[in-house]
Amino acid sequence: FQVPHPKNEPVLSYAPGSKERAALKKALEEARAQELDIPMYIGAEEVRTGDKKRLSPPHDHKHTLGHFHEGDAGHVEQAINAALGAKESWANLGWEHRAAIFLKAADLLAGPYRYKINAATMLGQSKSPFQAEIDSACELIDFLRFNVYFMTQIYQEQPESSPGVWNRMEYRPLEGFTFAVTPFNFTAIAGNLPASMALMGNTVVWKAAHTQIYAAHVIMQVFKAAGLPDGVINLIYTDGPTTGDVVFNHPDFAGLHFTGSTKVFRTMWKTIGQNIEKYKSYPRIVGETGGKDFVMVHRSAHAREVATALSRGAFEYQGQKCSAASRAYIPSNLWEDVKKYLQEDLKTFKMGGTEDFGNFINAVIDERAFNTITGYIEQARKNPMNEIIAGGKYDKSKGYFVEPTIIVSKDPSSVTMCEEIFGPVLTIYVYHEDNFEETLELVDSTSPYALTGSIFSQDRYAIELAAKKLSNAAGNFYINDKPTGAVVGQQPFGGARGSGTNDKAGAKVNLLRWASMRTIKETF
Ligand code: GLU
Repeated sequence: FQVPHPKNEPVLSYAPGSKERAALKKALEEARAQELDIPMYIGAEEVRTGDKKRLSPPHDHKHTLGHFHEGDAGHVEQAINAALGAKESWANLGWEHRAAIFLKAADLLAGPYRYKINAATMLGQSKSPFQAEIDSACELIDFLRFNVYFMTQIYQEQPESSPGVWNRMEYRPLEGFTFAVTPFNFTAIAGNLPASMALMGNTVVWKAAHTQIYAAHVIMQVFKAAGLPDGVINLIYTDGPTTGDVVFNHPDFAGLHFTGSTKVFRTMWKTIGQNIEKYKSYPRIVGETGGKDFVMVHRSAHAREVATALSRGAFEYQGQKCSAASRAYIPSNLWEDVKKYLQEDLKTFKMGGTEDFGNFINAVIDERAFNTITGYIEQARKNPMNEIIAGGKYDKSKGYFVEPTIIVSKDPSSVTMCEEIFGPVLTIYVYHEDNFEETLELVDSTSPYALTGSIFSQDRYAIELAAKKLSNAAGNFYINDKPTGAVVGQQPFGGARGSGTNDKAGAKVNLLRWASMRTIKETF
């Protein structure tokens, strides 16, 4: 069988007067007018527990979008049993049928569900139309199509044989059930984590972040509309520690696909370690966790390009991308220009709800995030080594709004220079233009993470030096570009150190983690 060679889904611009803009506006109005009542999806059942939790847009928290039904430990058990029950028939289904389901899901997202998924992401997660388009619709479509293609490539990889001997490789699913834990910040990641495991023949318990349930619910509707059999992916909304207790104590737990915080991932890994004797097989553990992503600038760079990369890389989606630029190192010769351009850019950024398409900055995800981010801003303000040169104000009366904030720090190891904030805060260290090499060492040693990073330079020797010295500092390294916006099939995404297991999302290597290989030698 040949599957279609995937191409990246074209991004719609939603330009004023366009048909797609009108369609998205309509989807938003419909979404706002409805009263969502979101069940968990376990096996063939839509589970309504009656323990209803309110959903509201982060930029308008008094508005009620509807409710979701929260589950408890018993529902986690139920989801595991449903996954185990569906396992045999799903694993035995020909791969082309699994492929067809996810290719159809991609087509549905590209067609009739496109505006629905974008509206859910815009309202539920406070993403602008453009960010929703690239990070939910297009990226999820790409993940699904590329993964089908990668799966067929994997299945075709076969060992050598010789006369009298036929060697074969079987790529079986893992034995047991798998567990996907997904974050709020990318609808595409939320869909991809359970789908990639299911594509390889596994059945899945999927725990979505409470702050992303609206979009998760739409994804599940898409999977169902594409013909995904009951029990293959079971979507639950349960509290993290309770879910972990049940899942990680189960002898059939076979794999974890996680995107979220470093702290939670480490806790999960420890719990898995403590239970290791219980499992039939060693579980596969794949995680994409935190980041403190850098932009390192050489004196030969173009100030205007650097400023654009920073204002977009640091502040798109309110800095809530794991890949967001959050620390920058600017040489003294460029600083005045970069500063001027950055301040000009920030003045043009309008802040407000996602329904007004002119807003570049929307709200941060919830009150807890708001408090953490503003806590960092206040801590930075008190430090005499710091100066806030833009933003610094915030207001949660209507929505959780934090101004894009730029801190200039004379201390390269100050708190906001080193710790992940996950919000619209960029810290800049201005170094003497002659100290490029020393500053590279600083970039490498300042944070425990290694997800993304950029070098800006017009000098090829400086680029080479940075690429070498920062070889372990980022899993995605950008030359003269911002460190966000990896495209599936073009820049496989993920990092090492405190940023994860680096099993690149949207790549063969990731899918291989969800297969258990059997080598068969037959002698004639
Ligand atoms: N892949 C996204 C990017 O390149 C980031 C994903 C994340 O935040 O986890 O911007």
